[in-house]
Amino acid sequence: MTKFLRDWRYPFVAAVLAVAFGGASFAADDPVPNAPAPACKPESFRVMLDVGHTVDQPGATSARGVAEHVFNLRLAKRIERALRDGGFVRTRLLVVRGSGRKQLLARAKAANAEKPDLLLSIHHDDVQSRYHAQWRFEGRERIYSDRFAGWSLFVSQQNRQFDASLAFAKTLGAALRAKNLPFTMHHAEAIPGEGREVLDRDAGVFRYDALIVLKDSDVPAVLLEAGVIVNRAEEILLATPARQDVVAAAVLSAVQGFCAERK
Ligand SMILES: [Zn+2]
Repeated sequence: MTKFLRDWRYPFVAAVLAVAFGGASFAADDPVPNAPAPACKPESFRVMLDVGHTVDQPGATSARGVAEHVFNLRLAKRIERALRDGGFVRTRLLVVRGSGRKQLLARAKAANAEKPDLLLSIHHDDVQSRYHAQWRFEGRERIYSDRFAGWSLFVSQQNRQFDASLAFAKTLGAALRAKNLPFTMHHAEAIPGEGREVLDRDAGVFRYDALIVLKDSDVPAVLLEAGVIVNRAEEILLATPARQDVVAAAVLSAVQGFCAERK
């Protein structure tokens, strides 16, 4: 994410719902416990993969000077291929041009026009500037931070389908963890620019209400930070097809689960 997106700070109200069941009785019209999930029809389920940032405003810069947008596009294409190979043939990339708020609004507008079943925004991460240090790579001064590594997930409570968005985020977080990919909690740190509310610690899901692509989209929407590209070691891994394929396989698994639940 870019810094200007992070300037939005919201007070957090933790809503804890405790639902206690006194007994194991079920009404006649309750779903049968442990009934198999309805079949998912991948060929009619539409996933929109939003490629974060633009060529004009490419987001973060990696420890070796590569633009985040390059990472985002490469991974999104890999995920698109995995989903299509998995039968989700109506998956499509959303690549936007331009800069500023206009290009962000264009993403939500596209999602609201096409009404996909799921919007997944693909990003790669940076850390706050207090953690940045300098090094030389190929003769040039570059910014890096090896302090944090890993993926994280974001949902907006202002999204009209927040419950579904959170459900997919949890499913994706579980799938990424099942692949033994590390996740980072640095967005929860109580410092300026971070302090995100943790919605699900085990699934690496944070609340970020103000993200335009999430809050202004009328469809279930989740933002994936696939890894920290200012981390010198993780940048190398994130650039490999092997890592991209593992992430893509996790996304496919999560979409299959979400599709089955939705249909
Ligand atoms: Zn980003």
